[in-house]
Amino acid sequence: MSTQPQVPAPAHTQLESMLSRRFGKETVNYFSSSPLNRLSFLRTEHPFLSQALKHPSTRFVLLNQLAPLTRSPSELAYAQYKDVEKLVPADFFDRSEEEMIQNYDSRKTQPQLIFLGLDEEKKEGGLTWKIYSGTPYFALEVTPSRGSAEQQAHAKEVVEIMEGRGLTFLQTRMVMTLPADEAAIYAQARALMDWNTRNTFCGTCGHTTLSVNAGAKRACPPRDAALLEKGQSPERPPCSTRTTISNLSFPRTDPTIIVAVLSCDGKRILLGRQKRFPPHWYSTLAGFIEPAESVEDAVRREVWEEAGVILSRVIIHSSQPWPYPANLMIGAIAQVSDPAHETISLKHDPELEDARWFEIPEVEEALRVGTSSLGEAPGPHYKEGNLRLPPPTAIANQLIQAAISSEYVAGDKSSKM
Ligand SMILES: [Zn+2]
Repeated sequence: MSTQPQVPAPAHTQLESMLSRRFGKETVNYFSSSPLNRLSFLRTEHPFLSQALKHPSTRFVLLNQLAPLTRSPSELAYAQYKDVEKLVPADFFDRSEEEMIQNYDSRKTQPQLIFLGLDEEKKEGGLTWKIYSGTPYFALEVTPSRGSAEQQAHAKEVVEIMEGRGLTFLQTRMVMTLPADEAAIYAQARALMDWNTRNTFCGTCGHTTLSVNAGAKRACPPRDAALLEKGQSPERPPCSTRTTISNLSFPRTDPTIIVAVLSCDGKRILLGRQKRFPPHWYSTLAGFIEPAESVEDAVRREVWEEAGVILSRVIIHSSQPWPYPANLMIGAIAQVSDPAHETISLKHDPELEDARWFEIPEVEEALRVGTSSLGEAPGPHYKEGNLRLPPPTAIANQLIQAAISSEYVAGDKSSKM
């Protein structure tokens, strides 16, 4: 079993507020609670970005086909500007965004660079811009197969230099081993990089797009100098993304629900398993929120479709950003109010191989000794054949913990926490 990273600490520093007295401590999930202040309003301020790009304190998260540069599976490795200056020229942000759009030429490509934010805890030696100070973070794509031949050669060189230092681009389906702070930085970098590389053509008119807002928006420029070469007018056809706020220009986050379901008597919890899960491994039920559906409606629909169970009250517990590729998991706890509604049926939607009610003592035992990531073995005290559950870095685990806590679900302060 590999060591599992800690989940982040709550952003609220103390418990004394009306809301925390009423609702308790916030649950903060893995991949959330980034140490970076994103300063989204500075993404168009090119004089700031230009300084941040070249500042000696600046850290670059390098992604090679979305695999992050690491020192080990539990530590990111950052590059400095001098490591990447051939790939990202010093004049990268010299022109304003308006000029970049007006002078767009689809023959000229630039490496994908994304401003992630400032770490305001790291002020020493950091950058100061107006009232903001700290260490700037960028994400940079170094995939050697993208862009012009020159870009590809520079990216290849960066990759070789980094690997020559003994660093590794961590190739794994999901990176879940980084400490919480780095996991949140990586999640932001990965989700935005993936969105940029999949949206190089406009979703409305089909023409090529240009990365703007320091990697947080894609514009469909009104003209393209490359058309002149073909003896055509440089003007492109009209596109509605230029005149209205368009969700095709901004990164998407797709909401999903995930839910821990309690039985009518509160003594059992509903869990399901998919065929691809290891033996005895169960988790909470989950699914995509559909258009024109509330979170609560989606929870009720998914649980009925996958398990045939009819829910009563649904509450939202916490949420988890999930950068594979760009989801937000909205975690809920729900309860059945009539024993007749507890009957499990897998005949509606065949997504689950099995769904079952588990007694709380069995779930408590699994939380103690039977948790692991999907590809890993459970702990040494796990007895073969017993229930296995996802690790604390998965929101499923946090929801199960909350659902079986009498303090959480019944406000019973006399019980242990
Ligand atoms: Zn367009």
